Amino acid sequence: PQTLDFIRNSIRDIPNWPEPGVMFRDISTMLQNPQAFRAVVDIFVDRYKGIGIDVVAGLDARGFIFGPIVAYELGIGFVPIRKKGKLPYTTVSKSYTLEYGDVSTVEMHIDAVKKSDKVVVIDDLIATGGTMLAACSLITDLGAKVHECAVVSDLLYLKGSDLIKERGFEVFSILEYK
Ligand code: IMP
Repeated sequence: PQTLDFIRNSIRDIPNWPEPGVMFRDISTMLQNPQAFRAVVDIFVDRYKGIGIDVVAGLDARGFIFGPIVAYELGIGFVPIRKKGKLPYTTVSKSYTLEYGDVSTVEMHIDAVKKSDKVVVIDDLIATGGTMLAACSLITDLGAKVHECAVVSDLLYLKGSDLIKERGFEVFSILEYK
């Protein structure tokens, strides 16, 4: 609990960004704090070590900060799930609707995971859950298994993690915002 408070206090809240009414949870201050950054990575690594995870997938862009460190520590590979148009090889893609009605698309290389791989999907935060859910669908479409979705922060009031769980995926968050 002390560690969780320490991590929580290292994250900066920015009101009305990127739009009026949104409270943005800014992890850049946490990344600048080596004890807090390490505490976050350690929680993920402790949770997923020794249980047969095959791949860590990270979401563009802040999942690229945590995912590779966790994969490195677990001694397994890292797979980027990117916004449309960034990946050079053949991709699978999934579109989803954002909070304010815009459509976004995430992509993954078709050979990024193997059938029956056990995958942990990492991002910094779940808001409406659309990004994480699209990522999970890509992984299951390729025949792999999502062991769990892992984030630093879950904005419970937007009910994104409820949606993800309703679709049959497990969610782990270090911090919950009510
Ligand atoms: P969702 O698809 O609505 O769940 O939005 C989650 C995605 O948007 C994640 O990739 C986050 O990095 C980003 N995001 C949304 N809100 C915030 C925030 O308050 N802080 C940091 N990232 C956010």
